[in-house]
Amino acid sequence: MAGAERTEVLAYLALGANLGDARASLRGATLGIAALPGTRLVATSSLYRTAPLDATGPDYLNAVIAVATRLNAPELLVRLQQIEGQAGRERPYRNAPRTLDLDILLYGDASISSTALQVPHPRMAQRAFVLVPLAEIAPARVSPAQILEVAGQVIERLAAPWH
Ligand code: ADP
Ligand code: MG
Repeated sequence: MAGAERTEVLAYLALGANLGDARASLRGATLGIAALPGTRLVATSSLYRTAPLDATGPDYLNAVIAVATRLNAPELLVRLQQIEGQAGRERPYRNAPRTLDLDILLYGDASISSTALQVPHPRMAQRAFVLVPLAEIAPARVSPAQILEVAGQVIERLAAPWH
């Protein structure tokens, strides 16, 4: 468990959903993550709407949040997968539409490459729906060149508050 002796690490998490009430799923996930042991919410991006990338189905809603957490990265991943499960997440095939997807983008400055967990997230650099909201709350972690790389992907920022 997260002992009080552990120091906090700033982690960036990607939230996505394109089935059911996606906005409610992202809001619920944010509340669930903020309530994890040793974890507090530090920042939330706007909500973004994107067309599925390499996949079919309805448009996605995406956001990136920052948390300060005393959970280690594998513990955090397990907790995120539990929250996905509570939202009815199923994995019938790769890139299938989903009620909720929670990915760890960055965990402090850690580099992790185990079978279950790779951080920084290996595909984040190809995804406007990750880089654009991440740049909104952590401009120092995304370069203008990275944003240019994904400039061809259509992404719409939704102005309304969502959490
Ligand atoms: P994806 O998010 O790539 O569409 P899934 O959500 O089904 O697919 O995740 C597949 C697997 O990716 C998970 O079982 C998890 O172990 C692994 N994974 C590896 N690195 C990460 C990461 N940084 N964040 C979340 N899951 C990860
Ligand atoms: Mg995932």
